[in-house]
Amino acid sequence: MSAQSTSSPAPPMVRDEEELARLPASERIRYRLVGADCRYHANDNIAAFIREGELDELKVEVEQRMQQVLEALVIDTDSDHNTNETAKRVAKMFLTEVFSGRYQPIPSVTEFPNFSRLNELMIVGPVKVRSACSHHLCPILGKVWIGILPNERSNLIGLSKYARICDWIMSRPQIQEEAVMMLANELQTRVKPDGLAIVMEADHFCMHWRGVKDDESMMTNSVMRGAFLKDANLRREFLSLLSKKT
Ligand SMILES: [Zn+2]
Repeated sequence: MSAQSTSSPAPPMVRDEEELARLPASERIRYRLVGADCRYHANDNIAAFIREGELDELKVEVEQRMQQVLEALVIDTDSDHNTNETAKRVAKMFLTEVFSGRYQPIPSVTEFPNFSRLNELMIVGPVKVRSACSHHLCPILGKVWIGILPNERSNLIGLSKYARICDWIMSRPQIQEEAVMMLANELQTRVKPDGLAIVMEADHFCMHWRGVKDDESMMTNSVMRGAFLKDANLRREFLSLLSKKT
């Protein structure tokens, strides 16, 4: 291990591949992220930094640490057959289901040019949202509506792809306000519409299950961009169509 001068843009510590390979997968992946100066918050996707086979290694690591959590909770997982495999199940659920949007690359989406020059308001939704809050890792369940006003230079994507991109962004520990912004940014870059509107309405289980145990826990967020910001009629049209769909 040799230290580099701090003025160098390269990672501060140089490890050779052999040394890296001896580290747990999570440390190896973190090393690459830090080296690339890449953010790895709970709602960031880090798929580009995970190599083949490492997701399986992560699963084993998370299982071992989840087992320690159960032990710290003083649960006898040896004789309690209900919790015997809980650590393993939770690790699999986190990595391949509920937080898979952190570890999987964006689903492949074919974009095609707007040949028929559609320029009418298009609404997609309700798209089912399954997410979790970053604060407590409690479920967030809800719906998203997407309004698109394309122009002749927009790239169109298939209707089902909106749901897949949405799912990819929501399948991470999230904060609702940030989740809608992330979805808007992704769609803006891909579709390049004149106007983009997103409304998300979700039920936050950390409000039911803990804390105040408030049953009024629905939260609604919206993002309006381009034509939806400038044109009050368009905004009204989107919101009225949306209320008819619920
Ligand atoms: Zn929470």
